[in-house]
Amino acid sequence: MLKTKQSSRKINKILFCAAEATPLAKVGGLADVVGSLPKAMRSQGVDVRVLLPAYSTISLSKLAAKKIISFSLLVDGKKEAVTIYEAKVQGTVFYLLQNKKYFKGEVYDGDNARKYLFFSRAALLALPLLPFKPSIIHAHDFHAAPIISELSLQDRNKRPGLVLTIHNLQHQGWVKTRTAAAFGFKIDEFPQAAFNHQKGDWLNLLAAGIATADKITTVSPNYAQEILTPTYGHRLEELLRSRRQDLSGIINGIDVESYNSTTDVNLAQTYSSADMISGKDVNKKAVRTYLNLENNATPLFVFVARFSEQKGLDLFDGNALWNLNRTYPFQLVLLGSGEEKYESLALNLSRSMRENIRTLITFDEVLARNLYAAADYFLIPSLFEPCGLTQMIAMRYGAVPLVRATGGLKDTVKDRETGLVFKDYSASSFISTFEKALRLYYKKNKKYQNMRQQGGRKDWSWTASAPTYKRLYDSI
Ligand code: ADP
Repeated sequence: MLKTKQSSRKINKILFCAAEATPLAKVGGLADVVGSLPKAMRSQGVDVRVLLPAYSTISLSKLAAKKIISFSLLVDGKKEAVTIYEAKVQGTVFYLLQNKKYFKGEVYDGDNARKYLFFSRAALLALPLLPFKPSIIHAHDFHAAPIISELSLQDRNKRPGLVLTIHNLQHQGWVKTRTAAAFGFKIDEFPQAAFNHQKGDWLNLLAAGIATADKITTVSPNYAQEILTPTYGHRLEELLRSRRQDLSGIINGIDVESYNSTTDVNLAQTYSSADMISGKDVNKKAVRTYLNLENNATPLFVFVARFSEQKGLDLFDGNALWNLNRTYPFQLVLLGSGEEKYESLALNLSRSMRENIRTLITFDEVLARNLYAAADYFLIPSLFEPCGLTQMIAMRYGAVPLVRATGGLKDTVKDRETGLVFKDYSASSFISTFEKALRLYYKKNKKYQNMRQQGGRKDWSWTASAPTYKRLYDSI
């Protein structure tokens, strides 16, 4: 009988290695993806499990986590104990890697270089001991990239397939070579690309992963193109262009069961597309009362993000907003935390317009969900945006996104159909689109409501992208 060409690997067992995953540890979209994609892959017949640091903020006893492996490793010649716990969370098996020193506290506090070098080294030692034998290791971002570069040194026919997903190219994990060496990484085994862009004895962990993975993905088709250019490549564009054949952009989905306005228990009131206007009104009132904002007929704009250079807070021109508010009154709520510069920028905005702007410097999942439900418009004026999940969540909750045409925002928001889109990264472009949003709300409300409905009808689940991941795994 004729033998057809078949993939040499059994691709039904995948191990994700990542720094964040909902519902256990979240800072941004990385957590949403690592938390929800394994569930979606189950429908493709693929068993995806997650290896995650057991940060001390995760309650192992509440998860009824079982201790399955203990070993130790040497850091700077000193023994460090590692324990791996297994827990099933929302149907997904997690391997939680514990070390009391390195994973004390929250996700990214402390020395991130040392923290994730430790995670990667411990993961490499744990792999042969785990009861799960993955055919593919899928590493997410620089935190797990050294796992890829080290495994790539093994015989290709004997090792698992290696996939690296770039969720954000800005964070590359630059570490001193002697720091990497302290965690047992052999510096002369790293690919040349890891040393290219910085003088001295520094090593770029993400570049090492990009150079050595079998396949590299990023989280939207448009961002996969953008990062090949100097504007968006964060100095890795040349390396990425050299791996073009193996690089693809797969748009993220969201967990549509969790982000569902008809069932979301966190909301003041649940609502469906049929009673969206009245339902959102109740939520808007509740948010206004909570934030001590007047309950009036003005539209509510919301911004929920990490406060960093990426998210476009520089474009919020206080004077222009003040002027705009005199013609078309509005309210604005900013929720987030991060860099001090952007926290004070946001706080200054609310101080200068006390009646209608509120800034909340915190990470608050419940408040964020209430803001999605209350918002008329959701602002995402990002400088760059690998995929962006908030525009999808916003549309699902009937908030019209106002976004810059970049990365995944360009792939997911259609100007004047499902949202408002501007091109230039400038305060004037942003403010004029803000004004457009206000005019639409006040003068063409029917058109505005129609836009909101159109966004609400889009399917942001993993239905389209899960089979694409399956095909990618199959191709290795
Ligand atoms: P990024 O990964 O760059 O932070 P994404 O748009 O991909 O941006 O994902 C952000 C996720 O984090 C969304 O689920 C958003 O609701 C959530 N989020 C961001 N900031 C906050 C906050 N301050 N409080 C609660 N949730 C937040």
